[in-house]
Amino acid sequence: MDSIEATSAIVPTYARANVAFERGEGCWLISTTGERYLDFGAGIAVSSVGHAHPHMVEALTRQGSKLWHVSNLYQNPEGERFARRLADATFADLVFFTNSGAEANEAAIKMARRRQWIGDHPERFRVLTFEGAFHGRTLATIAAGGQKKYLEGFGPKVEGFDQIPVGDLAAVEGAIGPETAAIMIEPIQGEGGVRAIPPAFLRGLREICDRNGLLLIFDEVQTGIGRTGRFFAYEHVGVHPDILTTAKGIGGGFPMSACLATADAARGLTVGVHGTTFGGNPLAMAIGNATLDIVLAAGFLEQVAERGLLLRQRLAELKDRYPGVIEEVRGEGLMVGLKLRIPPGDFATAALGKRLLVIPAGDNVVRIVPPLIVSEEEIAEGVRRLAAACAAVEERLTVAIN
Ligand code: PLP
Repeated sequence: MDSIEATSAIVPTYARANVAFERGEGCWLISTTGERYLDFGAGIAVSSVGHAHPHMVEALTRQGSKLWHVSNLYQNPEGERFARRLADATFADLVFFTNSGAEANEAAIKMARRRQWIGDHPERFRVLTFEGAFHGRTLATIAAGGQKKYLEGFGPKVEGFDQIPVGDLAAVEGAIGPETAAIMIEPIQGEGGVRAIPPAFLRGLREICDRNGLLLIFDEVQTGIGRTGRFFAYEHVGVHPDILTTAKGIGGGFPMSACLATADAARGLTVGVHGTTFGGNPLAMAIGNATLDIVLAAGFLEQVAERGLLLRQRLAELKDRYPGVIEEVRGEGLMVGLKLRIPPGDFATAALGKRLLVIPAGDNVVRIVPPLIVSEEEIAEGVRRLAAACAAVEERLTVAIN
């Protein structure tokens, strides 16, 4: 395929690989030139139930031929059903529907500040966040993430976000001031390199929030909707947040997201205080309900956990075979990271050469986040392709050294 880059009218914020896909089937993508690629990236942990899942296609076409959009000025039965199912399956009482991860996080931040405001603490607006975090690309969420590479050139950083290191509860206590409203954290940092936050630290944050009247926000944009083998990653930890955001896998590829909260945390969001044109439209809600039909079906999450274990076992063997390429295997469920001894972008390119999609992340990690429906055979095939990529990389390294 000739490169289309030179003639592209798309703003070039992504370094796109020179391949285009026209069709998907489960864990496979078929390129415009007819080659089959094994998709272990799932559109960055989005295509949770694979491509063109019959149940999703049926929901999309059924709702698509009836009604796509009405505004939030009217009743929304599909949305009510979806919110009730999310609440019943989690700690939450209430759900605010949005369209992207960053937008769900904006809702969470506003919700937390407003809860403090109506709770007679208008001075509390600051949010503690953590080094290595990623919360999105809006002005507030790049400030929340605090990473220089995303903040640079966009004017003054939005006020009210303080970064601290992960793992040091004393540092957290020390960073809390009279203006602190909330603590926000990803239970497993995704873009940061599949870095699991120790459960004891998350439990410590819950305790600190309770003692100081702060709201605890879990950003489960990437870890949510079954990715880690539980419906949400907080279930591994034994404590729940006051507010949780989720996106990516929730629509199986349809752009949608949600901010879940206890009734108390959401107390400040009354009529007219926050809003969205598209969030929660009937088409998105029907698709979200279809995702839940699959992910919450009996045995599905247990299967994700088992497949994740199998994948990590196979990857540990691969690390033993290619110690010059792979340094560490990390992750939970089907959110897996390979910490590499080479740049993750180079490894992703080598994998693409073997017709396998994986996703580079921070901390020199490549992410392996296949659709949650991945079979044992597809795991075996993916690991074979990863081995071939490792061999190709190792050969290049050897040539470079000699
Ligand atoms: N939060 C986390 C943990 C994410 O991984 C991402 C995206 O990768 C976001 C927020 C932002 O989501 P979106 O790109 O949908 O705005």
